[in-house]
Amino acid sequence: MEKQNFFLNCQKQFLDIANKLNLKTEIIEELKEPQRIIKFQIPIKTDNGKKKVFFGFRSQHNNALGPYKGGIRFHQNVSEDEVKALSMLMTWKCSLLNLPFGGGKGGIIINPKELSKKELEKLSRGYVKAIFPFLGENIDIPAPDVNTNAQIMEWMIDEYFKLTGKKSFAAFTGKPLNLWGLEGREEATGYGGVVILKKLANTFKLNPQKTTIAIQGFGNVGSNFAYFAQKEGYKIIAVSEVDNGIFKEDGLNIEEILECKKRTGKISICIKNFDKEITNKQLLELNVDVLVLAAVENVISKNNAEKIKAKYIIEMANGPITPDAEGILEKRKIFSVPDILSNSGGVVASYFEWIQSKEKNRWKKEKTFVELSKKLSKSFDEVFFLSKKKKINLREASYILSVDKVAKSIK
Ligand code: NAD
Repeated sequence: MEKQNFFLNCQKQFLDIANKLNLKTEIIEELKEPQRIIKFQIPIKTDNGKKKVFFGFRSQHNNALGPYKGGIRFHQNVSEDEVKALSMLMTWKCSLLNLPFGGGKGGIIINPKELSKKELEKLSRGYVKAIFPFLGENIDIPAPDVNTNAQIMEWMIDEYFKLTGKKSFAAFTGKPLNLWGLEGREEATGYGGVVILKKLANTFKLNPQKTTIAIQGFGNVGSNFAYFAQKEGYKIIAVSEVDNGIFKEDGLNIEEILECKKRTGKISICIKNFDKEITNKQLLELNVDVLVLAAVENVISKNNAEKIKAKYIIEMANGPITPDAEGILEKRKIFSVPDILSNSGGVVASYFEWIQSKEKNRWKKEKTFVELSKKLSKSFDEVFFLSKKKKINLREASYILSVDKVAKSIK
């Protein structure tokens, strides 16, 4: 993975579109930086009785379309730059999907595996303690992201209830079901990616049985993508995690790998007869029809863009292709679907959860998936139509549609 300034890349993408849309200077000034960025310390008492200070962030990029919306990640690489970039992407994503939300993102610099459950709970509650006046169902609504989950949302919303004295269930999404969490929320991002895969297949007349797929990242997003894609008949020939991956020419058994990962915590242990181990570099350069990027940002850069052999790329992670790599891929006629469209299943499901939590009206999983498919399919059609009409790529079309809506709403 190439180290690049993620925020500057996102800003550059926005500025290019802003110029094409002839946006006024004051609107560009407002949108090119977050409206607010909060940096704070989170002191906790560790299990051995000592005090330890962690660092947290919340970036609120823009709320012209509605309250800020975006996840909180716990990762050792979290930085101000990263949350700023991700909050900007959330603004475009929510706008593109016609959701009544703006963009936000947060995080704590921590490798959560280094903490006990008790310490993790203190840290989660500490995050809310530090910034609760800036959160709320109509202000800023956090959700899970990398290394955070429904349990962490439960601790956070409980702390929020205590501090505000208000049982406002719509203040967080990605919660457990007993707190008005949504059935299907966990699978939603991966499931949404497969809705996009099916649109791609329809558009380019791909036959699922003959379409080979490699997936980088086998966490929440990558594993759910793999599961639903295989159910639709696609052949997943490679998957990987941070350390390494598995390859099988005639298709992996995803359910078996999922079961093994659940049992052992690692996919490399799941290697069976005829499978072979591959590196992440090898996975990215496989000769497959579809490459799914579901791990981290900047994994395709100018250093490896010439070596990519896939015909189609679906960006499930945020920002996995650098802008200079995108130019190279385009010249080589590799067709990619941008992150703000293909990974929007999670925030769309969060929107459904937000409505459900406000209305106290439970949705069935089938309803979540049906409504998710409708919303993503509609956005794909809008983006694809514009890209054909203006002869531009899908990212540019997505950005034109989304930035234009936010800019009009500011006006
Ligand atoms: P996760 O933590 O559940 O899984 C991440 C996966 O990526 C793991 O398999 C990990 O081993 C692998 N990985 C980590 N670093 C890697 C590296 N350097 N090279 C290769 N693999 C690596 O996270 P997730 O929730 O699946 O999120 C994955 C990506 O999708 C992130 O970019 C996230 O921002 C994005 N995303 C997630 C959601 C969601 O609902 N979870 C929604 C939208 C976007």
